[in-house]
Amino acid sequence: MIIQAKSLKRLVDAILKQGGSSDEEAQVVADHLIRSNLAGHDSHGVGMLPTYLRMLQTDLLKPNQVPELFKSDGSIMMFDGKRGYGQAVGKIAMEKAIEKCRESGLVLMTLRNTHHLGRIGTYGEQSIAAGMVSLHFVNVTDHTPLVAPFRGSDARFSTNPICLAMPGSEKQPPVLLDMATSRIALGKARVAFNKGEALKEGLLIDHQGQSSTDPAVIAGYIFPEREENPPLGALTPLGDYKGYGLAMFCELLGGLLSGGRTIQPEHERQNSIINNMFSIIVDPGKLVDVPWMQHEVEAIAAHAKASPPANQEEPVLIPGEPELISLNERLAKGIPLDDASWEQILVVGEALGLKREAMLNLM
Ligand code: NAD
Repeated sequence: MIIQAKSLKRLVDAILKQGGSSDEEAQVVADHLIRSNLAGHDSHGVGMLPTYLRMLQTDLLKPNQVPELFKSDGSIMMFDGKRGYGQAVGKIAMEKAIEKCRESGLVLMTLRNTHHLGRIGTYGEQSIAAGMVSLHFVNVTDHTPLVAPFRGSDARFSTNPICLAMPGSEKQPPVLLDMATSRIALGKARVAFNKGEALKEGLLIDHQGQSSTDPAVIAGYIFPEREENPPLGALTPLGDYKGYGLAMFCELLGGLLSGGRTIQPEHERQNSIINNMFSIIVDPGKLVDVPWMQHEVEAIAAHAKASPPANQEEPVLIPGEPELISLNERLAKGIPLDDASWEQILVVGEALGLKREAMLNLM
């Protein structure tokens, strides 16, 4: 089915409020989720709701938290997210870091112990909207590992994302690299599993470390209650040892230097999703002349895009461009949602006490 973003947002907003979120929090989280769907990242959109419901029911996700600034020293700001909705506490922590960066030109912001931060590109977009450059390194804890290290045959890390954001100009959209350090994010495998589709070769391994195309090998991570799940396999790291190395640094920067924790086994794993983020925010105007910077961004992007495409149907794109193309398309045509994901969302609403008919009336 195809749903207009505004209708889907009304429904998600109602479900989040029913889950205990204030009007403001529900609005921020719903907006983040719908924007992820609009950007084409269904893995981090409304399909996360069943997972969030499980966390709410077990008190592993706590609505209406405000990030606590537990350390502030010069340009350093360290926040604790208190297991709140990452989309909400992450937005507040970034707002405070950006505000400080306007004075100091450089801020090192960490955010530990927050529930799922969602699409990390959202925080890069927040910096870009303020004219700032930002770098984000994130790890995932309190969750069973999902990603095998290079040369390994079982899961030891999570999909540890990295985001790098650079403002554009009037002519050139921003450059936004926002990626998991696994070859695909777990949610992409969830979407393929829900659609009953096989994945490409090389993205997954089964429980014996053998390459697999069946997303069921990781279904146990997403639907642990499902009885017919095969033994757990793993996602593979992006670019072999290079992605594995970046995932390790997400642990060391995001997990360790935030004062949160790494995924090493001395720390408990309650099967929730805790993110820890290490962010550097820079005011580029303190380093270079902004009109010159904008010209350079335009010129380097044009230089890359001028490369004749190896395949005529696939022109060179700039990081962030696929999301912009999806945004424009989905704003015009609506967000496609598979039947299983749609049903799962309605079941979440019902579990929280909403009537199915009332939810459908919101659409
Ligand atoms: P992806 O592979 O779809 O895209 C990764 C990046 O590559 C994007 O910046 C995109 O613009 C760029 N890109 C894609 N095709 C391109 C092309 N042809 N030319 C140039 N650039 C191109 O993304 P992913 O790795 O599957 O990650 C999906 C989302 O999952 C991200 O938003 C990420 O933040 C999120 N994530 C979150 C967590 C978490 O714990 N919160 C964990 C993992 C991933």
